[in-house]
Amino acid sequence: MKQKPFLLAAEGLNKSFDGFKAINDLNFYLTEGELRTVIGPNGAGKTTFLDIITGRTRPDSGNLEWDTDHDLLKLNEYEIYRMGIGRKFQTPTVFSDHTVIENLLLSMAGPRSIWHSLFGRVTAAQKERLAEILETIKLNTQAYRKAGELAHGQKQWLEIGMLLAQEARLLLVDEPAAGMTDEETYRTGELLLSLAGKHTIMVIEHDMEFVRQISQGRTVTVLHQGHVLAEGPVEKVQSDERVIEVYLGRKSKAA
Ligand code: ADP
Ligand code: MG
Repeated sequence: MKQKPFLLAAEGLNKSFDGFKAINDLNFYLTEGELRTVIGPNGAGKTTFLDIITGRTRPDSGNLEWDTDHDLLKLNEYEIYRMGIGRKFQTPTVFSDHTVIENLLLSMAGPRSIWHSLFGRVTAAQKERLAEILETIKLNTQAYRKAGELAHGQKQWLEIGMLLAQEARLLLVDEPAAGMTDEETYRTGELLLSLAGKHTIMVIEHDMEFVRQISQGRTVTVLHQGHVLAEGPVEKVQSDERVIEVYLGRKSKAA
């Protein structure tokens, strides 16, 4: 079998907006099963990088390989989604008028068969998978509630559940803790930790306490001006002078 060292490999990526380099010679590698946190000040290019991975934005140059032999830059957004790359946006994008279960079913079926997923028969295998996901995202007791009635944190977990239902191999999660209570943030961390290993996860986050919670013994990447400024264990990155200067420097100490 061919060796597959990286699930995702970005090399020499560049993207300018009106002459401004949002992504600047970016090299970034993810191994299968990894839970990677990406931090960096506002405007560092974090969201743009996710836009490039998901095919929403085209880079000006560079390479982006998936699972060794797929060139993501040749695929459109839908094809990338079908490769198993799922994205959770910062604000929840659940279907408010549908129940939690229906939202999960809609993701399971994929975007093509909405009618079938809502009104068709649910197979035994699907039921089992649904129960498993509800358990994972701790929404068992909310299964028949309308998604619009859920608390903010619960909506975010449902969205993570939707990525699981779509069988994403790579979960791209942009600022999950934004707007959450401390309790919700902590539980989100627990959820992501429980998924690590089974899925590959890239989390973009600002909340340093949350970053420490999910990054123990793992690699943290610091983006700055569209480039990797530092990468390594969370304690090392947090005590890196350059990181403190550009990212944490606004606070009196490294949070
Ligand atoms: P981050 O998510 O790290 O805060 P972004 O990737 O959103 O950073 O933005 C990086 C830079 O690129 C910012 O200066 C932003 O204004 C700029 N940018 C992002 N998307 C666009 C766009 N579609 N058009 C113009 N400028 C953009
Ligand atoms: Mg952003």
